Amino acid sequence: MEFEKILKNPLYKNLHSEPLVKENSSTKSMKMYIESYGCQMNFSDSEIVASILTSQGFSITQNIEKADLVFINTCSIREKAEQTVKNRLKVYNAIKKKKNPGMIVGVLGCMAERLKEKFLEEDKLIDIVVGPDAYRDLPNLIKRVEDGRKAVNVILSNEETYAEISPIRLGENGVTAFISITRGCDNMCSFCVVPFTRGRERSRDPESIVNECKQLVKDGYREVTLLGQNVDSYLWQGGGFKKEFKNLSKEQQKKSINFAQLLDKVAKVSLNLRLRFSTSNPQDMTEDVLHVMAKHNNICNYIHLPVQSGNNRILKLMNRGYTREEYLKKINEINEILPDCAISMDMIAGFCTETEDEHQDTLRIMDKVKFDFGYMFRYSERPNTPAQRKFNDDVPESIKLKRLSEIIDKQMSHSLEKNKQKIGREFEVLIEGFSKKSINHLFGRTKQNAVVVFPKENYKKGQYVIVLIEDCTAATLIGKVIK
Ligand code: SAM
Repeated sequence: MEFEKILKNPLYKNLHSEPLVKENSSTKSMKMYIESYGCQMNFSDSEIVASILTSQGFSITQNIEKADLVFINTCSIREKAEQTVKNRLKVYNAIKKKKNPGMIVGVLGCMAERLKEKFLEEDKLIDIVVGPDAYRDLPNLIKRVEDGRKAVNVILSNEETYAEISPIRLGENGVTAFISITRGCDNMCSFCVVPFTRGRERSRDPESIVNECKQLVKDGYREVTLLGQNVDSYLWQGGGFKKEFKNLSKEQQKKSINFAQLLDKVAKVSLNLRLRFSTSNPQDMTEDVLHVMAKHNNICNYIHLPVQSGNNRILKLMNRGYTREEYLKKINEINEILPDCAISMDMIAGFCTETEDEHQDTLRIMDKVKFDFGYMFRYSERPNTPAQRKFNDDVPESIKLKRLSEIIDKQMSHSLEKNKQKIGREFEVLIEGFSKKSINHLFGRTKQNAVVVFPKENYKKGQYVIVLIEDCTAATLIGKVIK
């Protein structure tokens, strides 16, 4: 996105206008390039970074070789994600040496938070290290680098939600957008690095969420996804850490807004705006949320409900806060209240001490639920997590891979079976753009989050159409528009 386009973007008008750093001729003309890895929250954070810096006169370029400032927004969730980031840094290094010796390189996000100053010691290429709660400080940090110093800010906050910052949408489709509603996580799943890299859980002011949705509708967007590590745990109590809720007076507690209430408010913004949310946690998802979903036609009937394992001993070691039976009860509740709701999951293969029988429990819970789709991983030990400190990562890599491939095979067969059941049915589809494989075809998603491909004819992105499903693969529905 070039600067001219940003200035035309109405969101720009709402940006924090007080300069955080005195503008000078060098920062004014600086072009920044930003690359994001990991979860949707990271992509959403990059849009906040883009907003903070463009409000200070920086422009955005899609061409890394033309950039004065290169940011990589990183993920620490698995070792492989960190390796990807390290490989990209090598590429930046080569560009810097060959083409642009003055290029400033900044590492943002979870990996920055995890490695802190170590990053600067290990990799001489890096100039700036910024954690997820310190993006407002970026203009000052850049100034520091321009003055010849290295710059680090990895302070985690108890308040920061970037509530009033209108993100610069970096995703190009102009139809679907992400909105972060909580930051951090209090769950302490033993395998997970998130509480250490993103801090304790805080919720964002509902007014600012509703206003962002209204602005998106005005800008032509047709779908928002509310984001959080655990959206069901959303609780607006006037600011601060969620764990402080219990210290509030009864009066103050009564005034708080929970996730079901927030969903209800956002759904009322516009009937033309579809609403999704992610990620849900089985221990926090209430029946109220399901009833609000049933009440509003524009809330998509799709729930991403990570299960992680089908075995009670492993779930306990993971500190997930529910049993296999409780998870299945939640699935029944969803099926009863929202009969046509798609459900997806996350699953981890080969967690510490997992036996073959326990892995079979995972395959059995998949057979019971028949998820529509899934995100499946082999366990990757993360430094300083409770699992790393307390348990042995003793399942050999070859066994982890074997179990993961069994989980993936099973999911593929369930996804195909679920998709086949849709042949002959009609679905409302929001068109998101051209199909990857052909410019004569468009793609969009059903409310159940299934991807649908169909002939383009005269249809355009952003339109709602009714598609009759005629064929499918495990990943895609194929059809034609009938209305
Ligand atoms: N907050 C969500 C939750 O806990 O359900 C999602 C967090 S994470 C960004 C997305 C997924 O990555 C998790 O649900 C889990 O399946 C996977 N994951 C997290 N830590 C992992 C680890 N150490 N090894 C393998 N997979 C991991």
